[in-house]
Formats: sequence, C-alpha cells, structure tokens
Amino acid sequence: MSKVILITGGSRGIGAATARAAGQRGYDVCISYRRDEPSAERVLEDIRGYGRRALAVRADVAEEVDVLRLFAECEQHLGTPQALVNNAGVLERQSRLEDMDAGRLQRVFNVNVIGTLLCAREAVRRMSTALGGDGGAIVNVSSRAACLGSPDEYVDYAASKGAVDTLTVGLAKEVGGTGIRVNAVRPGVIYTDIHASGGEPDRVERVKSGVPMRRGGSAEEVARAILWLLSDEASYTTGSFIEVSGGR
Ligand code: NAP
Repeated sequence: MSKVILITGGSRGIGAATARAAGQRGYDVCISYRRDEPSAERVLEDIRGYGRRALAVRADVAEEVDVLRLFAECEQHLGTPQALVNNAGVLERQSRLEDMDAGRLQRVFNVNVIGTLLCAREAVRRMSTALGGDGGAIVNVSSRAACLGSPDEYVDYAASKGAVDTLTVGLAKEVGGTGIRVNAVRPGVIYTDIHASGGEPDRVERVKSGVPMRRGGSAEEVARAILWLLSDEASYTTGSFIEVSGGR
C-alpha cells in the first residue's frame, strides 16, 4: 500500500520540490497552498506523471478551520497521512526591529509557529498509536536563521524559527513513545521566491560569498534531506536537525 504525505506550502519552492521528490519515491501527495493555484496545479501534474495520486487544497495554515479542512480533505481523497512536512513559512520586508509593527509580528508568528503547531496537532491526532493510529513522521522546515538571528533583515522571522526548533524538540519527546518521529531541517540560503518577499529577490547572490561552500542551495537539496528524515532509513532519529546550508 502506498504512503500518503501531506506537505504545507507545496505549490512553490522547497515544498514543491519535496512534493515532486515524494511522488518520485512512491508517495501519494497532498499539498496545501495559499494563493498560487497555477503553480499548485503544475506540481500535481508532475506527480500524476509519476503514477501517483495528488491533491492540492487551498488552505492558510494560520487559520484553524483551514487546517481542519486540509487534513479532512487529505483523509477523504488520499487517506490518512503517514508523513507531514510543515513547510509553509513567510517572512516580510527586510528591516530592523525598531521599524516592525505588531501586525507584521503577528502575521509571521501566525504562519510559521501557530500554523506549524496546528498542523502537527492534526497529524498527531491521526498518527499516534495511543489514539488508534499507525504512527508516522513529521519534518518541520526551520531555518539556519534560528541560530544566526538574521540581524538587520528579519529577527522576527528568525525568532519564529527558533520556536519551530523548540517545538520540534518538545514534540519529539512528547510523542516518541507513540510511534511518531519529529525532526527538522534548517536550510541556509536557498534559491526560491521567498527572498522577493523580503524585498531582495537576488539575496542569495549577495550572501553566497559568506557561505563556506560559496554557493546557494537548491530546493531539491533540501527536499532530499526532508525525505531522508521521513524514511525508514531514519528509523531511530527523532528530535534531530539537519543543516542544509553549505556550512553556513
Ligand atoms: P516560497 O518559495 O516563498 O514558497 C512558500 C510556499 O508556502 C508557497 O507554496 C506558498 O503558497 C506557501 N504558503 C505561504 N504562506 C502560507 C500559508 N499561510 N498557508 C499555506 N501555505 C502558505 O518559500 P520557500 O523558500 O520554499 O520556503 C519554504 C520554507 O523553507 C519556509 O518555511 C521558509 O521559512 C523555509 N526556509 C527557506 C529558506 C530559503 O532560503 N528559501 C531558508 C531557510 C528556511 P502560495 O504559492 O499559494 O503563495
């Protein structure tokens, strides 16, 4: 029987690369997205081309009703997910803390932290062997920003990823005895659209000389680490982090 994977923010960037790689490895794939339906459709077409089932659900992870609907639709059309990738994440325009208002801080934390917690909760409710489930694995997409702090760019985003790291450690311990592994990846500077949200689409080109490997990473390189953490190859790995950052 094929496995079902649910990937939040699977229409573009790291989430889309993870969705395609999961389809190639034999998963049926459910992705969520917020706005970009054409990109989500292209991901679905590719996954169906690999002979797997694929579903896209427009759902904002920051909204509890959307998260409930996302998991219900996944379950109804593909089946209960054995794997969750908490990938959806946002950042806003590069600035210093003195110029950030409360609305921005709430938007960033609502998606990156509350969204991750809500999706993890729905996964645990279905996967936990203590609640009648068959177990599973969760990978959270954190960031090297959680360790580096992102001064002069977005300390709010970095702090939200610090929270993702903490919840990864805590949840791994909480559900470790109920058949669920919880891990995270910390990407460095990766070529995706997210840098445009920060107001600098070519940020990777500016920053890459400071990366020990002297280049930015690809979404596919992050996807491979995520899929390894989800796989049986990582069967004794939980509460762990993989840095996918070229040494930065
Ligand atoms: P991206 O190219 O901007 O793609 C973001 C994806 O998330 C899109 O599919 C977007 O949907 C979706 N999304 C955004 N907000 C959402 C919400 N509230 N609910 C549901 N879906 C939402 O970003 P990315 O670079 O691939 O980033 C993916 C993850 O990696 C994020 O958590 C990010 O923090 C992390 N990360 C990225 C980098 C990097 O350098 N790129 C480095 C470290 C960590 P739409 O297409 O509909 O907009």
